[in-house]
Amino acid sequence: MAKPNRPRVIIIGAGFGGLYAARTLANQPVDVLLIDRRNFHTFTPLLYQVATCGLDPSEIAYPVRTIFRGVPNVRFMLGEVVGLDYVGHVIEVKTNGAVQREAYDYLIVAAGSVTNYFGMASLEANSFGLKDLADAVVLRNHLLKQFERAAWSEDPDYRDALTTIVVVGGGPTGLETAGALCELYTYVLRKEFGQPSFTVRVILVEATDRLLAPYPESLQIAAIRQLESLGVEVMLGAVIEHVTQDGAHLRDGRFIPTRTLVWAAGVKASPICDFLDMPLQRAGRIPVMPTLEVAGRNNIYAAGDLVYLEDVQGEPYPMLIPVAKQQGVLAARNILRQLQGETQQPFAYIDRGLMATIGRRRAVAWLFYRVQLTGYFAWVTWLGAHLIWLMGFRNRFSVFFSWVWNYLTYDRSVRIILEHEGLGEPAADREPSAVE
Ligand SMILES: Cc1cc2nc3c(=O)[nH]c(=O)nc-3n(C[C@H](O)[C@H](O)[C@H](O)COP(=O)(O)OP(=O)(O)OC[C@H]3O[C@@H](n4cnc5c(N)ncnc54)[C@H](O)[C@@H]3O)c2cc1C
Repeated sequence: MAKPNRPRVIIIGAGFGGLYAARTLANQPVDVLLIDRRNFHTFTPLLYQVATCGLDPSEIAYPVRTIFRGVPNVRFMLGEVVGLDYVGHVIEVKTNGAVQREAYDYLIVAAGSVTNYFGMASLEANSFGLKDLADAVVLRNHLLKQFERAAWSEDPDYRDALTTIVVVGGGPTGLETAGALCELYTYVLRKEFGQPSFTVRVILVEATDRLLAPYPESLQIAAIRQLESLGVEVMLGAVIEHVTQDGAHLRDGRFIPTRTLVWAAGVKASPICDFLDMPLQRAGRIPVMPTLEVAGRNNIYAAGDLVYLEDVQGEPYPMLIPVAKQQGVLAARNILRQLQGETQQPFAYIDRGLMATIGRRRAVAWLFYRVQLTGYFAWVTWLGAHLIWLMGFRNRFSVFFSWVWNYLTYDRSVRIILEHEGLGEPAADREPSAVE
């Protein structure tokens, strides 16, 4: 049993930053309270595979309590942090229908990021985000319903809108989602929705003139080539201006009739950052010192997507898993150093490169910023790395089995439309009354 009256560390968020902070503090002379509004940790790189019927939600989520089973000094609370008194060292958590106050000696804020709609209300109301497991399940339900509707629609324009999918954002999530959607149609749905026949259009829209901005040009071009070989239409320099239930209006006047717009073009820091009452940086991120302490906020550290810290080139560290994990570990270690009267260490990022998958035997990788891979070798590297990073043996085994199955059979077996009131669906999912 953990001894009472030891320093108490509260960690907000059991994502990558929070989880690695809690793991670092496991079995150390502190009492840890880890709080998350979900009782599971989500492996975000595979969310798009849940949305496109390749994996079951439980294969990419892992219960937080299981991770800390047998660790006496780490306790978990399911709840949403709704307030912070940084002077009195107390947070407020909405749990079990009431707001509970929890005191801390040290706080690690690792609440991640949320979808950024850049203030466009029409976009928020009529698009699908892909930020958490609920988003992925909502999108999967919606996509499957569009195909079911298209199968019985007599109106060719309406049918085309149902089977046109617009994915916005030329980063890895946009590419992965667009590629997987084309494969879902080509390998699975086309065989099952034969009569009356329809074709699916997947359009990847990017506002700038390139995909995968941080990658070298050769890999950017390779990515476009691989996407197009799958059937994805790539639209560069196309800016979404307004979205309705019936389609997307571009700034240059074009209109794309669609019932499905997936918004993968921006994230901003969790609104929890506002509780710190300080000027925030770009995308609402918290400026921190190199030790990850929040300046002027006694004993508060931050880690992950919501942190704004610049590297030696003056660029902010990207919102990526390795950054979040390494910051979580450092924040925890610096708390232990502080407790022992030692000097805290600055953040030094170990960066192993970038990779993005596009589809079956298609991917790009830039390993250690030296080795460039495309196609099959990049794809195998991506698969192997993500299997290793996935949490839990059961999940690894299950995902591996699903991938082998999907690869050999060209199938996507998770195609159940499972709706639930709590999931919440955007307006885009409703049938237009004129057509019903
Ligand atoms: C679809 C998708 C694909 C991605 N693919 C990759 C990839 O391939 N490689 C890569 O490096 N990065 C990828 N990322 C980015 C990566 O997921 C993030 O950088 C990483 O999750 C950041 O970790 P974090 O701990 O800051 O936040 P998160 O992992 O998002 O964790 C934040 C946690 O805080 C909880 N929380 C939030 N607010 C509250 C509150 N008020 N109260 C209680 N709990 C709260 C949330 O429930 C969540 O569990 C992807 C992201 C997405 C959305």
